[in-house]
Order: sequence, then C-alpha cells, then structure tokens
Amino acid sequence: MRIAVLPEEVVAQIAAGEVVERPASVVKELLENAIDAGARQIRVAINGDGRTRIVVADDGSGIHTEEVETAFMRHATSKLRALDDLNRLQTLGFRGEALASIAAVSRVTLVTRHIDEQAGTRMLVEGGHLRERKSIGAPAGTVLTIENLFFNTPARLKFLKSENTEKRQITAVISRYSMAYPDVRAVLEQDGREIFRTHGSGFLGDVITSALGLEHGKQMVAVDNGEGERIRVYGYTSAPSLNRADRSRITLFVNGRWIVDNSLTYAVIQAYHTLLMTGRYPVAVLMIQVPPEDVDVNVHPTKAEVRFRDGDAVFAAIQKAVRRAVIEQAQTPGIFAGRFNASDSGARSWGDRYEAAQLDLSFDLIEPGQHARKQHVETASPDENDPTAIPYGPGAPLKPRTLPLLRVIGQVAASYIVAEGPAGLYLVDQHAAHERILYEQFMDEHARQGMIAQFALAAQTLHVSPDEARLLEDNLESLQAFGFEIEPFGPNAFVVRSVPAMLADRDPATVIGGILEDLYQGNKPGQARIEDKIVIRVCKQAAVKAGQILSLEQMQGLIRQLERCDSPLTCPHGRPTMIHMSSDQLEREFGRTGV
Ligand code: ADP
Ligand code: MG
Repeated sequence: MRIAVLPEEVVAQIAAGEVVERPASVVKELLENAIDAGARQIRVAINGDGRTRIVVADDGSGIHTEEVETAFMRHATSKLRALDDLNRLQTLGFRGEALASIAAVSRVTLVTRHIDEQAGTRMLVEGGHLRERKSIGAPAGTVLTIENLFFNTPARLKFLKSENTEKRQITAVISRYSMAYPDVRAVLEQDGREIFRTHGSGFLGDVITSALGLEHGKQMVAVDNGEGERIRVYGYTSAPSLNRADRSRITLFVNGRWIVDNSLTYAVIQAYHTLLMTGRYPVAVLMIQVPPEDVDVNVHPTKAEVRFRDGDAVFAAIQKAVRRAVIEQAQTPGIFAGRFNASDSGARSWGDRYEAAQLDLSFDLIEPGQHARKQHVETASPDENDPTAIPYGPGAPLKPRTLPLLRVIGQVAASYIVAEGPAGLYLVDQHAAHERILYEQFMDEHARQGMIAQFALAAQTLHVSPDEARLLEDNLESLQAFGFEIEPFGPNAFVVRSVPAMLADRDPATVIGGILEDLYQGNKPGQARIEDKIVIRVCKQAAVKAGQILSLEQMQGLIRQLERCDSPLTCPHGRPTMIHMSSDQLEREFGRTGV
C-alpha cells in the first residue's frame, strides 16, 4: 500500500476508540461535562446495557447557540486555552475529545439552552455527520441522547462484556461521581426503573450509604488528616469487620477526579496490616486533595491515571490517615457508628459485634435449627438439650458411621479438637468439621423435604448497593429454596422475612452480604453452582468459628456428628477437616519402630 493520509472519518473513529471504550465511558464523559457545566441535578437513563440508548440530562449552564457545532469538533473545548492552564485546572474535562468521539461512533441528539439565551437548539449528529439542526424551546441545561453506540465499529461491539457487566460498570461510574460531588443530585434509571439516587445533601457519608448500601455504610469510619495539610486525605474507610475478597471497593479520587492507581490502592491495604486476614481487602472511599501544580492529570486519554510530583508523600499520607482512623475506631468500639451517622448508631456497630463474637460461647452443636427452636419453646425436651446426642430428627435415618469412634481429649488453640481413635491421633479443625456437618444436614433436609426449616424474623429491612440489589433480585428464587424469604422493598432495599433455621442467631445482613459477595465473584467457569454457593456460605456462617472455646460436651457432640458424615474428611470447600497421625507414624516419629 502507498502512504496516504487517513480520511478524517477514520481518524475520528480511531481516536474515539481511546476515549469511548464501552457504554460506561460514554456515561463517564457526559457526567463530567454536566458537572463541569455546574449542574445541580443530573439524570442518567439507560436502556439495556446502554448500547441502544443512554440519556444524560443536566440543569447546568447549557451551550451557546453559536457554539453547538463547535462543541462536537475534535479538540474543541471551553476549558483550556494553553498548556499552562493545566496547572490551574478546575474542570474535569480539558481535552475537548469526548463529544467528538462519542458522535463518531453513535447517533447523538443534543437538546440544549444556555442560561443567558431565550431559545434552545436541537441537533442530530450521526457517525460524526450533522444531520439536522433547529431552534427550539427548552429548559436551561443540556440533554444528550446517545443511540446505537458502536453501530459503525462492529469490532468494538464484539469486545463488549455481558450486558450485566456493562450495567454494573455504569452503576459504578455514577456512584463514583456521586461520591466526588455529594452536593449534586444524581438519579440513574435502567429501563425506566430508578435504581440509584443521591440527594445532594453535600455529605459524602450519605452518598456512600446510597452507593454501598446502609449495612456497609454503618461499618465505615471517617478519615481526615486535617484541612491545613498540603496533601489532604479525607473520606471513609471500613472497620476491619467489613472486608472483601478483592480490592475493587477501594475508590480513590484526586482533586475530585476518580483515579486508578495501584500504588495508592496498596497504601490503603497497607494501612490494615495485621488487621485483616490475608486475601481480604478493605472498602474505602478517599478524597485526596493536592495543589493542582503537584499533579499531572494529562497522562491518559480517559484521565483515570495521574502522576504526582511526590508520589511517596501521597502514599504515606494515605496510609497514615487510614491507619489512624481504623486504629482509633478499634480502641473505642461502639462510637464509630455514631460518627458515621448520628441517627443510626446501635446494636450493629463493629464494637458490639466484636464483643458478641467474643461472648458467644453458648453455641449449640446438636442440629441445625435447635438454637432457633430453643428461643421459642421454653420447655424443650431434655433429649434435645443433651449435647452429646446424635442428631436425628423425625424421618432422619441414623446414618452409618464413616469414621471410627473417637474419644475427645481436648482443644488446642481454641481451634482444633484433639481426639484419639483405634488408629491413632486425630487433630480436627472445629470450623471446617462443623461446616461439613451442617452442609450434609442441610442437603439431607433439602433432599428429604424439598425445603428447609426456616426461622421467621421480625421483618428486617436490608439496604444494599445497586449492584447487589440486581444480584439479589436475580437470585431471589434460589435463595427462597434454601430458606431465605426476601422481598424487594423499594429501590435497593429488601425485607428479610425469614432465614434458614440454622442461622437464627446470626445477623441476617451479614449472612446475605456474604452470599452476595460469593455470587458477585461471578460465574467463572468451574465455579460452584449458585445453589451450592448459597448453601456453602450458609454453613460457613452457621458453623463454630476458629478461636471459639468449646466445652467437652460440645466437642463430643461435634465429633459424634462428624463420624456419621458421608464425607467427613473435607469441608464443603474441599479443605481437610482433620489431620490423622497413625499409631505407626507416632511410633516412627518417636523412634520406637523395631524396639
Ligand atoms: P471537554 O469536556 O474536554 O471540554 P467535550 O468534548 O467533553 O470536551 O465537550 C466539549 C465542550 O462542549 C465543552 O468544553 C463544553 O464547553 C461543552 N459541553 C459539553 N457538554 C456540556 C454540557 N452538558 N453542558 C454545557 N456545556 C457542555
Ligand atoms: Mg468533557
């Protein structure tokens, strides 16, 4: 091929690829424009995953009649004149690329009226070509409708993820901007249904509650290293009780701009050193404020990466501020819930939970649901209360032994049961073993009766994040089959009417939160079915924990039940429940062989 300058249209499409990667990038750019235009209210409406239609409406300044066409030209911006302006930049946009890029790969309808003008403009641009333009009456502000995204770039379409993934990305974008601009009222509608809303109160805590759900919001602690600092860090971070399997819930903003930065994310994780188990990560929303001249925002087309003049100082400031907030909170358990939101302190604070976990030694190992029943039937038969009894309810056949009869010797490290059998010594992981026991009982009960015993709650409301709400809605039926009666109750809220009986004394919000986290981990190939995930999580929550001191009777009860499990050697996750040291092995270790 000979060398030739590319046609303008092709150049535009290539350039568009850098800025507009997916529907969520369109939403991001349009939100930034609305915020830059001083909007107090922003409404985003999408159809499906946004490919067919995205509408972003704002009540900002609007665009001057004579500038509407310029706005769609590449490198056309009202926010920057010279490179030097970057050091004083107050706006989110500055590259002048978004509208041109979006218009190059979709059909855009713009309706806008500038606050200082009488008449507005309606304009239609398709694949970068102006199709129609007329003067109309319109409220001050701007409404952009993006349709048929990527209609002329089929390759891009092919690389889009599943509809749900794209929806989730859009929700994430909107909750991020809502956090950075808590005084803006934002609404997200999906297929005509409102799924997210912030109230523009100006309080980050309120937005976090909308974005993460009330249950998580309650477990966040305030972070602030003080107004006078050159590097100011403020926001919220989770008490150690709230943690996740991945770092995706660590959200960082620099001067009001959401950023992705592995190093700074790591600063947050570092702050929890020894406070979280390995493989667990905190939830955090942090605003980092630095003088504009100390940060370069012009590193990446999507502006999601920035470069600091002194990255180490920013790292240290974050780590210190977060660490201090978490430690202070741990030293004064109970008060942080009040700090987060004065109106909802109370029984669910981290401190209270921590204490409850410490004191909860009265756990019963007899059978699922016993605990629930005991709370209601005062005159339980003595049989039921005998912790050494082997569990079998009506119709439950006594299962054959799969392990030899074991004699409990004692407990080690409040986590392992030492037992002796004809074939030697057994070290049993109490949590893993109890998980296995509950799992088999649960499955048996389900197989026998097609359902499982429920424990009715005084209807409890549960507030979750928009993502989790979708996930919960999609799985209500499966949950129902396993004893959870949950009903939608307004946007992102649910009423929990019952839980499986074995969870009667557990906090339903924590249990359901755990299930959602498992489901959220996605349907990666090779992963357990949804039903399995639910059951496994239920058993994990109901099982005795490591670190819990057990009475001899409780240990005996647990071992009796384990002896009759179908697969007593592994927990439902596949980890071993016990280590066996045979008599031969013992003799060998002590050098007694052949003596
Ligand atoms: P940038 O935001 O980098 O300036 P864009 O392509 O996103 O570039 O927008 C081009 C210009 O169009 C902006 O500089 C702004 O003047 C105008 N504009 C875009 N969206 C809006 C809006 N919602 N309200 C007012 N003006 C807008
Ligand atoms: Mg812009």
